[in-house]
Amino acid sequence: MRVLIVEDEERMALTIQQLLSTQRMLSDIASDGEAGLDSAMSGIYDLIILDVMLPKLDGLEVVRRLRAKGRQIPVLLLTARGEVPDRVRGLNAGADYYLTKPFASSELLACVRALLRRPEELRPDTLVYGDLTLSVETGILSCGTERIQLSKKELELMRLLMGSGGAPVERETLLLKAWGYDNMPESNVLDAYMSFLRKKLQHLQSNVEVTSRRQIGYCLREKNA
Ligand code: CA
Repeated sequence: MRVLIVEDEERMALTIQQLLSTQRMLSDIASDGEAGLDSAMSGIYDLIILDVMLPKLDGLEVVRRLRAKGRQIPVLLLTARGEVPDRVRGLNAGADYYLTKPFASSELLACVRALLRRPEELRPDTLVYGDLTLSVETGILSCGTERIQLSKKELELMRLLMGSGGAPVERETLLLKAWGYDNMPESNVLDAYMSFLRKKLQHLQSNVEVTSRRQIGYCLREKNA
């Protein structure tokens, strides 16, 4: 599980991060609305904890833009005490839940767990990138009339790469999400799987290729773009 915390008050952000780490959840912090929206669009997060009052772009606008782009990721909105109209506007903007500051640690963790339990069907079943279409349910990757079955790990990796829309996905994120904390393989296993995916993309005669970003991770790229 990887959580994005969008919060400009450093102490609050670090407190939340610390709290999540006790539940073995990784998190990243963005300290303004624009940075938060950029990170949220990467597709690598399972949940966003989003403050309403933020520099550059407020939390409500961040949710609105995320939803306008079709991103279904759960959003937990943090509002200051008494900002009732904000809560209503937040839910209208597409947030899933809100929590009023100050809150108890147990309250935050309960919300996080509840939101992460949301049914799988809220995740998009079909992902599209360039000339590729991936059915998450069946693991079938297609390009034009060609189709190929992905293995379970290949599917998970492809889902992450397509979900990020061409932005690089960190090696650590790929390993963690495809294998999980307790089964993390040697790093070169990831490279082996990426070469399987490359072969499958060649077989499909896709315009899309898997490229490696030194020190960062992997991303998809359209050859003629
Ligand atoms: Ca704030």
